[in-house]
Amino acid sequence: MAPAIAQLATAGVQALRPYAPGKPLTELEREYGITDAVKLASNENPLGPGPRVLEAVRGGFDELARYPDGNGFALKAALAEKHAVPTEAITLGNGSNDVLELVARAFLSPATSAVYSAHAFAVYPLVTQAIGARANVAAAHDGNDGPRFGHNLEAMHAAIDADTRVVFIANPNNPTGTWLDRAALQRFVTAVPDHVIVVIDEAYFEYVDEAEYPDSMEWIPDFPNLLVTRTFSKAYGLASLRVGYGVSQPGLADVLNRVRQPFNVNSFAQLAAVAALQDAAHLQESVQVNHSGMQQLLEGVEAMQLPYIPSVGNFLSVDVGRDPGAVYEALLREGVIVRPVDNYGMPGYLRVSVGLPDENRRFLLALEKVLAA
Ligand SMILES: *Cc1c(COP(=O)(O)O)cnc(C)c1O
Repeated sequence: MAPAIAQLATAGVQALRPYAPGKPLTELEREYGITDAVKLASNENPLGPGPRVLEAVRGGFDELARYPDGNGFALKAALAEKHAVPTEAITLGNGSNDVLELVARAFLSPATSAVYSAHAFAVYPLVTQAIGARANVAAAHDGNDGPRFGHNLEAMHAAIDADTRVVFIANPNNPTGTWLDRAALQRFVTAVPDHVIVVIDEAYFEYVDEAEYPDSMEWIPDFPNLLVTRTFSKAYGLASLRVGYGVSQPGLADVLNRVRQPFNVNSFAQLAAVAALQDAAHLQESVQVNHSGMQQLLEGVEAMQLPYIPSVGNFLSVDVGRDPGAVYEALLREGVIVRPVDNYGMPGYLRVSVGLPDENRRFLLALEKVLAA
């Protein structure tokens, strides 16, 4: 008898559980017959992109039949200027997830390991397992010497072994919203052995307003093994287009670009990203909307006396004190999509993204109703 197809897959892929994305609005509306649902499930920018982006994207229609610029000339030039690095330092990705996967493809194998923290972003275990590499998962802080659920850099350092080739660090981390300060992170990067690539994932960089929050790109000249990733999916409001990037020394970027698909970032994404970089006012407004929305959410959950993890991102993980799957389902029936994150080793937690004032209010009212029932 022929083997089941899944059994022909590599061991890593057989064990893989696919990423569970936030439920799309259209799916909720289809399944529940709801028309005015709100989605606060994927840390998207509730304002969307600014008018400059919409204008720039229109230019893409004239070139629909052409392959995109595989080298991303204009976008790399804009990023090189923004970060004061040579264009050879930049690796463009189909979202920054793509860059994370390039790292795994280029540096991991079944004979190697990757290190990341418990409760870290789900893509690190995914790309590690897909390759069949070993995962050395470091225990997170328990709340004594650092924020509960936050990355514990000492434990992460201890998890590095002779076979480790990659360390993934999210700063801040999703779904916890916890962050690492400059001194501690710089000490960690300095102490990591030379044979290990350090990936610092700064998907929420633009939102963070903490004096001790580092811009780890400053350390790139000192560390050939350091890669910093950023994205246009969050504060820049371009999640649907899929565009992110990594910055490193050119040697590391060269390796990543060898395994990159030649046309991984489409033309609309490139046009939009360049325009988004030129619209500082829209970015500032997005950050401001997030800041006040976060205040609104915090006041609401505090009024309900629900524990939460203090977050510097555009999302908040809340302990609803009971099966979060059931609360999630009940919220869906109220037309509010959030994200259960108990599968991140955070039993009882739901993650809500910061929305517009009305969306936040919808969520808080629905949560209050659901928890009272
Ligand atoms: C959202 C997110 C990303 C970015 O994903 P894209 O592929 O750029 O859309 C990367 N890292 C973390 C921690 C995230 O939460």
